[in-house]
Amino acid sequence: MRLRTLEIALEGLEGFDRPDPRTEQYSTPAVLAARLLHHAHLLGDIEGRSVCDLGSGTGVLALGASLLGAERVVGVELDPRAIAVARRNAARLEAEVTFVQGDVRDTGLIAGLGRFDTVVMNPPFGAQDPHADRPFVDAALALAPVVYGIFNSGSIPFLEAYTAERAEIEFAIGGIFPLKRTFPFHRHDTVGIEVEILKMMRR
Ligand code: SAH
Repeated sequence: MRLRTLEIALEGLEGFDRPDPRTEQYSTPAVLAARLLHHAHLLGDIEGRSVCDLGSGTGVLALGASLLGAERVVGVELDPRAIAVARRNAARLEAEVTFVQGDVRDTGLIAGLGRFDTVVMNPPFGAQDPHADRPFVDAALALAPVVYGIFNSGSIPFLEAYTAERAEIEFAIGGIFPLKRTFPFHRHDTVGIEVEILKMMRR
């Protein structure tokens, strides 16, 4: 599937109904999701693989992985309303993805999911809670040897220090995360947040 075709499929998906600012609910923009997935796909980490999406929200990354031929896809998401949206999106794309309602900080839940080849995720950027992405990194590295994630630009030094013995960062691709005015505290109609798509490999 071409990058643009994937992007168009993901662009048509339903977004968050009433996004919750505390958990930083922003749908991953189709351009960024498609880029992350396409890249992972080219490196052999999607097709025929088992893929887990952490903080799957409306399901953009999980569903994209399924469209690219992942063999088994599971999304983990705290918010049951987001899960309902993700399930509608799956039905629309006729994609077989399992969405599990739960907290990535729940180590028992994570252990119970089994092992995956690849994790894809767009964790909270930490605007509301500066350490919000840590449990995502921990869960990701517990689940799979290969992790693709979208992080705030400038996160690499923190991630390198945080994962030092556990993982190494293979590469980073820069991008812009366009945020539409979603919450009342946003002062501009759109802002662009600089982000990085990172590939991490377990040591
Ligand atoms: N990729 C998704 C959304 C990413 S936003 C999409 O495109 O829709 C981050 C998501 O992580 C939100 O849906 C939020 O509800 C979820 N989340 C935040 N903290 C979480 C936690 N501790 N456990 C599971 N999900 C969490």
